[in-house]
Amino acid sequence: MNLTENDVLELFNKTKALLSGHFLLTSGRHSNKYFQCAKVLQYPNYNEAICKNISDFFKDYEIDTVICPAIGGIVVGQEVARQLGKKFIFAERENNTMSLRRGFDLKEGEKVLICEDVVTTGGSVFEVIELAKQKKANIVGVGFIVDRSFGKVKFGYPQHSTVKMEVISYLKEYCPLCKEGLELVKPGSRKNLK
Ligand code: ZN
Repeated sequence: MNLTENDVLELFNKTKALLSGHFLLTSGRHSNKYFQCAKVLQYPNYNEAICKNISDFFKDYEIDTVICPAIGGIVVGQEVARQLGKKFIFAERENNTMSLRRGFDLKEGEKVLICEDVVTTGGSVFEVIELAKQKKANIVGVGFIVDRSFGKVKFGYPQHSTVKMEVISYLKEYCPLCKEGLELVKPGSRKNLK
């Protein structure tokens, strides 16, 4: 049975992958939500259940290989490939260019499904798309766990996410949580994240 969007969110909450409060993001902006996908995917059974949503969506597509950008996408791509019974490779940046290393390669006409954990602007996925095009592979689709663009990012191929999540953040000057006097938490700092 496939998880609904709410089931997925429940797993995020349960594993503290999704926190509510007053957070300082790496961009310097403030937000009432903080999301760290790795917190839920560290449990292989949750990763398996969530990825099933992606592999089921693409199960009738002709796929030779699942590919993902390193690092976040690796656990997702590996699991989706396992469920579909396909090969799995990943791309990584070398001198700022998304490349295939470790003896990985794509052949002309190879049918690839691209996977990722979180899409915000889609930057890494677009780089893998470019790489696949250079290799003249056939891109079949893009599957990912969280769409933080709330459907705004379109890759130009069939795409599927297990959950859409809106990101609301504020410049600190305009942050309503600061005005309320809520303590600001820097995610990852031991002090505040129990
Ligand atoms: Zn604030």
